[in-house]
Amino acid sequence: MYIQKFTFNYFSENTYLLIDDNLECAIVDPGCCNKEEETILSNYITTNNLKPKILLNTHAHIDHILGNAFVVDLYKIELAMHNDDLYVLNAGPRIAEQYNIPYNPSPEPSVFLKEGDILSIGSTALEIVFTPGHSPGSICFINHAQKWIIGGDVLFEGSIGRTDLPGGNFDVLANSIRSKLYTLPDDYTVHPGHGNETKIGFEKINNPFVK
Ligand SMILES: [Zn+2]
Repeated sequence: MYIQKFTFNYFSENTYLLIDDNLECAIVDPGCCNKEEETILSNYITTNNLKPKILLNTHAHIDHILGNAFVVDLYKIELAMHNDDLYVLNAGPRIAEQYNIPYNPSPEPSVFLKEGDILSIGSTALEIVFTPGHSPGSICFINHAQKWIIGGDVLFEGSIGRTDLPGGNFDVLANSIRSKLYTLPDDYTVHPGHGNETKIGFEKINNPFVK
């Protein structure tokens, strides 16, 4: 599986395409917020003959869902996320208004993911881990065969997701990181929702927020 990263919108949010060898792909957290960014994403998909199969949200903060409606309308795919972030998703229009961001509201999810679920994209298996704390329904996607994690806003290079937003809780986040991520082998790569990729082993030693 190949990971293609885009960085979109006012929050420098990382959008990922998870592309299986058979060209089926998952679109994760499409943050595209205008025509130009939508075109960058859809042109990449068209040019590479990709077949989008599902839309995944690591969580439903506004910067991760700005392009949800665009990709669902264009590719007729289902939205999958954790049930506990549903009210965050539903707050999207109000939050977008607060930030004064144009927002075409996301459709409702039709697939709910939970701890331990295995998602198949082509021939690739992704394990779902439940990692609340930054938001109540945050999840990560783990590819054990290739030793990487799509981490959303849980663990960043040298940092962690903020916990001052509604539903956030530092102790819950720290517990998620220690029990679900730091228990993975050191050589697993984290592809976060903002900033650069990092390694589990590096963060266990150097992360100043959660040891
Ligand atoms: Zn977030």
